[in-house]
Amino acid sequence: MQDPRMAAPVTGSGVVVVGAGLAGPVAAIYLARRFGRVTVLERHADPRHIPAGQGRSLMVIVSHRGWRVLRELGLEDAVRRICVPLTARCGHLPDGSAVLTPYSRDRAPIWAVERHRLHRLLLDAAEAEPGVGLHFERPVLAVDLQAPALLVRAGTAERWISCRHVIGCDGVHSAVRAALVERGAHEQVSTLELAYQEIVLDLPSCDRGLMHYWPAGDALFGAFPLTSSPLFAGSVFFRKDGPAPSYAAAVNGRARARQFVDVFPSLAAGIPDLEEQLATKPVSTVRLTRCDTWTSGGRAVLVGDSCHAMAPFMGQGMNCAFEDVRTLVACLDQEGDWRRAFAAYERSRKTDGDAIADISYQHYRTMSRLPDPRDEAEEAVARRLVALMPNRFVPLYERCAFSEESYSAALAEERRLRELARRILIRHGSAAVDLPDQQLRAFVPAR
Ligand SMILES: Cc1cc2nc3c(=O)[nH]c(=O)nc-3n(C[C@H](O)[C@H](O)[C@H](O)COP(=O)(O)OP(=O)(O)OC[C@H]3O[C@@H](n4cnc5c(N)ncnc54)[C@H](O)[C@@H]3O)c2cc1C
Repeated sequence: MQDPRMAAPVTGSGVVVVGAGLAGPVAAIYLARRFGRVTVLERHADPRHIPAGQGRSLMVIVSHRGWRVLRELGLEDAVRRICVPLTARCGHLPDGSAVLTPYSRDRAPIWAVERHRLHRLLLDAAEAEPGVGLHFERPVLAVDLQAPALLVRAGTAERWISCRHVIGCDGVHSAVRAALVERGAHEQVSTLELAYQEIVLDLPSCDRGLMHYWPAGDALFGAFPLTSSPLFAGSVFFRKDGPAPSYAAAVNGRARARQFVDVFPSLAAGIPDLEEQLATKPVSTVRLTRCDTWTSGGRAVLVGDSCHAMAPFMGQGMNCAFEDVRTLVACLDQEGDWRRAFAAYERSRKTDGDAIADISYQHYRTMSRLPDPRDEAEEAVARRLVALMPNRFVPLYERCAFSEESYSAALAEERRLRELARRILIRHGSAAVDLPDQQLRAFVPAR
């Protein structure tokens, strides 16, 4: 028998958004404002009815690109009220020293928020938007890109529903991407070498206006101040295939706690319930995805993690997903035709999605390793160039988190800066770091 909940709301929808994670509600609001009715299908139960903190990653960072979208949707003030500003990250090195890296040269902040609070706010906003219908516990099992149509489960019933346009906001395990792959697209799916586990802890001596991290070679501990309590939300990242027994393979909380104490003794001393937390919280992995095709005519399109899930350390996955949606809508406005708009969106975003995934992976490598004197010299020369010519050289993080410059242009500029720093080092060796300004400037090619 057909599930009665299934019948009315879904049939005949023009636009279906698959996935109500972070990008889905944003896409639904934008599209409903232009095209009327939008149906959102989410495989999980409504997170607003589930106790907080059971999902993935406690905190997310909202930066410039994300704010632009939230402002356009009229949600900026509401989101700012549940965020905490952070002006720098503070690295706590094993020798007891601390390294402060401002997020931007003018000390502008990025903003941290508990993911579940932001998610709830976005879902509430989508639900309040005329035309948006949110449907939870509706997994999309298959996508027919030709029709287009979606095979949806509700309870024990499964049914094909037709629509005009499918927006794939269904994250790293995307059913929409799987349908594109079935029709010849190539995807790359891999898993970061790291596993991570979240730990809530008290860090009374840590400044709450900073993000804190403790690098330990193949491991990293990062912590953000929680916005709804005086505690910090920490994540311990460990190599899955590290020296035996590897962290993720350590089957119980006690074994993981022993490893934690070995690697982060100073932190462990301040977490009285370390073993209990490590025994009860899930060990998560980070999936990375790419796909060479993001669209199928004017019928289906991928957005967010479904086409570019990345390493989390740049804090750009969601910001990039929001920018995807904005770009897609701008293309629809400009082209006035779904097929041309999807093609224009793919042309505009594909290289950027790949670029920010590359940048994020590189940033993770930089943050997780201990300082290496060879890299330090290159880093120091690059820093001097940035300080010497601030309008010419902008730090990569700043380009990504504080501007709307395309990620691929930002990556190309960073590569040019690094190449220049390497050339100066080859020419002058370790003395390069202390070259007089004029001599350093002479290396910089005219534009
Ligand atoms: C540890 C960690 C920290 C991070 N920190 C940041 C940060 O600070 N800043 C930042 O910008 N980004 C961050 N990210 C990345 C960010 O979480 C993602 O980029 C973002 O969630 C992508 O949004 P999305 O909507 O594309 O995917 P998701 O948020 O994953 O949503 C996908 C949704 O689709 C649903 N779904 C999947 N398959 C189906 C199906 N077949 N049918 C129906 N529904 C389906 C899922 O249940 C889910 O709700 C972090 C990620 C991790 C892992």
